[in-house]
Amino acid sequence: MDINLQKHIFETFPWYSKDCKEKGILCGNGWYSILNELNFKIDEYLKKSKIKDFKIENISQFFGGLKININIENNVINRYIEEAVAESYLICEYCGNNGYPYNIQGWGITLCEDCLMNPPIKKIK
Ligand SMILES: [Zn+2]
Repeated sequence: MDINLQKHIFETFPWYSKDCKEKGILCGNGWYSILNELNFKIDEYLKKSKIKDFKIENISQFFGGLKININIENNVINRYIEEAVAESYLICEYCGNNGYPYNIQGWGITLCEDCLMNPPIKKIK
């Protein structure tokens, strides 16, 4: 994900782990809006429930969908994450349009038709 988008996420939501900030959010820009929505839901829940030690450990792309690891077991946050992961299989990882999960030579990736035909040549980090 582009550095400026990551920076905005890390500055807005203080509960990303040091490790995550160092390694970066390892997925395409198309999923920024999914992550943003997830972040706001988690933030609201954290404020209500007064959980203080929550961290997102890392975020990456895994077989076409989002993979998000956190440091606690919590049913509400887990459900928010499951919803975000399910959505990522419907949204193009590169551009954010409606997408479909493809298997390209064993590499799982969720793309729209345009990006499938004209894959953007750029690093996803
Ligand atoms: Zn696309």
